[in-house]
Amino acid sequence: MVYRTPRPGQWRAQDLSHDRVADYKPFVMVDGEGVRCALYVSGCTFACDGCFNRAAWSFRYGRPYDDALEERILADLHHEAVQGLSLLGGEPFLNTGVCLRVVRRLRAELGRTKDVWCWTGYTFEQLLAEVDAGQHDKAALLAEVDVLVDGPFDAGRKDLTLAFRGSANQRVLDARRSLAQRRAVPWAGAEAPGATDLLATA
Ligand code: SF4
Repeated sequence: MVYRTPRPGQWRAQDLSHDRVADYKPFVMVDGEGVRCALYVSGCTFACDGCFNRAAWSFRYGRPYDDALEERILADLHHEAVQGLSLLGGEPFLNTGVCLRVVRRLRAELGRTKDVWCWTGYTFEQLLAEVDAGQHDKAALLAEVDVLVDGPFDAGRKDLTLAFRGSANQRVLDARRSLAQRRAVPWAGAEAPGATDLLATA
């Protein structure tokens, strides 16, 4: 496994992010459950060997997140066929300015009728440590996420048969229950027949 591991509070969006996005894809069916709107933010410091999206390591990659893009995303999210918003990267928890802006708008207009999935290089336990270290922006984003796909990509444990994740160390978690219980709780979809591969293997 080759990737960087931060100390709690070491990496902060306020120091790193330029509020830029690498891509936005409406009505996709691969980034989570159901039909989704997927926002890819720019910038990631985990530097995982074998990362699928190296171009998005730079916080200056892509284009600025602006009002026009936000209006488009919200209009797409209002479509009744859309189940929710997916936040990917880059690293969403190092681009909390963008992610909190779009998620708060989603909650204000659509409440919990839409879900939020988030892919992060942080493990859930690392995010808890960030919260405990007073990283309020990470805490605020974590509180809005429904499903968290956590952990860095480990090329040594790469498995292309896994749903929603690229390596076996990564987990698909029920973020709200995990936060309430302060322990990693698998997403209920992982318990569905044929979906047992959503649980990380030790
Ligand atoms: S956390 Fe994700 S985006 Fe960042 S380097 Fe690792 S695989 Fe790439």
